[in-house]
Amino acid sequence: MTPLRLHLNEHTGGCSPRVVDALATLTAADFAAYPDYGEVYRDVAAFFGVPEAWVLLANGLDEGLDLVSRAALGWGAPAAPNGRRTRRTGRRGGSPEAVIVEPTFEMYARCAAAAGGRVRSVPPRSDFAFPLDRVLAVIGPRTRLVFLCTPNNPTGQLVARDEIVAVARAAPGALVLVDEAYAEFAGRSLIGPRGLEAPPNVVVGRTFAKAFGLAGLRAGALVARPETLDRVRRLAPPYSLNVCAATALRAALQDREHLARTVEEARASKRLLYAACDRLGLRYWPSEANFVLVRVGDRAAELVDALARRGILVRDRSREPGCAGCLRITTGPVAHTRAAIAALEALLCGAWS
Ligand SMILES: *Cc1c(COP(=O)(O)O)cnc(C)c1O
Repeated sequence: MTPLRLHLNEHTGGCSPRVVDALATLTAADFAAYPDYGEVYRDVAAFFGVPEAWVLLANGLDEGLDLVSRAALGWGAPAAPNGRRTRRTGRRGGSPEAVIVEPTFEMYARCAAAAGGRVRSVPPRSDFAFPLDRVLAVIGPRTRLVFLCTPNNPTGQLVARDEIVAVARAAPGALVLVDEAYAEFAGRSLIGPRGLEAPPNVVVGRTFAKAFGLAGLRAGALVARPETLDRVRRLAPPYSLNVCAATALRAALQDREHLARTVEEARASKRLLYAACDRLGLRYWPSEANFVLVRVGDRAAELVDALARRGILVRDRSREPGCAGCLRITTGPVAHTRAAIAALEALLCGAWS
């Protein structure tokens, strides 16, 4: 039995069939050549409604996070606004710092540490609403990078535009990476009709892995003002998006019906899961993404294993800050959510196996 993968927020319904068709047109000569990005940059910039110079394509948003971390924290990153080198000298100012708001996507801490930064973690509020005061309180002269995730993975909570702006203004010497991996599901983005509606130190991260279902092909993007993005672009390899991903991305962007259906199915799935949680007496946090954080109690790890034995993979988040007893369940196609709910109800109503 192939397990149902509801643990990584992938599109378990698959990408648009137009992607499969487009990949089938690639030839031996296409595979032998370094990709030409002219058309894909044009299409992605048009999708976001910004000029091409505002876009940097990456081998998944994960690569984008790594590049931004190195641009902000690594060797060659600009010195502190007061002009002193702060990096690794320890004597004059100490290590550059990255601010992370827990619980959140685990790659932020990994990328920041790999780039040589010191991670300053902000603990969550009990309702997972964005802790603006706490974030502002940890921002200081060594802050070079702030990661914000909206909707946040794993809580599904939004960070309001005003809050993002407040953080970006409080840390003018830092890059503020706003991870919008789930923006299509939330139906909102900092990238608006008039371009990027945010201070110049904001870099928006987007991925085509989730709503567009291209996780296996690896395609992500950074969107920022050209002066800001150029700091990142000079660290990027010239061909990080392979020819299949570049071709697939163009086809995926054309299939707006597939995207709309994906977003609608996630909504319907969330409603079903909320209703099931209400029946089962489980706490959950209404989510703006394609997953829901559910508190199942102190047997979370056991429940994850029992669900896996029934062919349903979900993510144990019980060891994340503020998430004791919590699982994260991807809410994609309704049939998949129904299968997860049936297994959850069977297990929680007695029949552990
Ligand atoms: C999945 C995810 C990513 C990674 O996207 P890729 O394009 O697959 O690398 C980045 N940020 C968040 C919050 C995610 O959930």
